[in-house]
Amino acid sequence: CGIFAYLNYLTPKSRQEVLDLLVTGLKRLEYRGYDSTGVAIDSPDNKNIVMVKRTGKVKVLEEAIQEHFSGGEYSKPVLTHVGIAHTRWATHGVPCERNSHPHRSDDGNGFVVVHNGIITNYNDVKTFLAKRGYEFESDTDTEVFAKLVHHLWKTHPTYSFRELVEQAILQVEGAFAIAVKSKYFPGECVASRRSSPLLVGIKTKTRLATDHIPILYGKDEKKLSPDQDADSGKPQDIRPHGQSRELPVLPRSESTSEF
Ligand code: GLU
Repeated sequence: CGIFAYLNYLTPKSRQEVLDLLVTGLKRLEYRGYDSTGVAIDSPDNKNIVMVKRTGKVKVLEEAIQEHFSGGEYSKPVLTHVGIAHTRWATHGVPCERNSHPHRSDDGNGFVVVHNGIITNYNDVKTFLAKRGYEFESDTDTEVFAKLVHHLWKTHPTYSFRELVEQAILQVEGAFAIAVKSKYFPGECVASRRSSPLLVGIKTKTRLATDHIPILYGKDEKKLSPDQDADSGKPQDIRPHGQSRELPVLPRSESTSEF
């Protein structure tokens, strides 16, 4: 599949501009997955997240977005920092709207996730979370990731968004690229990958912006230097995330400690 995320840390864009960017991104990635598509973006009051998903091609999603965001409260001009998008090639769960991405942590859309690849231990994670009251609404492996981040957020209230995703990544197995957006961390997006490709394009000239782009780096990876020419046009390739496990791994943590 293809995942696409847009983040503008300093200056928000209009929601329409961000949606246009997401659709353009998906069109470029369409050859990687074409059974269903979806986007997540801030709600008109910026306090929630709205998702639009469709089975079929990006064109179908594009029309659905136009329809969804026209009229009523959605026609209000809104500024937004972050949007995430997905074009799916199903591995777990048949192609249908319920299984299309983004997937959410809870019905309040606390955390939403787009994912490329497979989480091979998703059954263990699902069992762990189901015992803690989580109910699943799709047949995908992806959904466990959104709910795992939510569980960590509840149990570790001091964690930053980046730390939450980092700790969730340590609990999952498989090859994947992932992007996460949260209503609890407006203006932020966290992305990571293990074995799957993920490119990050950075367009900025300011020190402040490059210092604050919240990307997970692999163990030996150096953060982009603030003095580096970020305008060179070369996308940043994130190295595979460190495979070391610093936390108890599922399902061992079931009986002993809560991670
Ligand atoms: N395993 C995930 C799913 O079936 C992602 C598949 C993909 O890479 O499109 O939804």
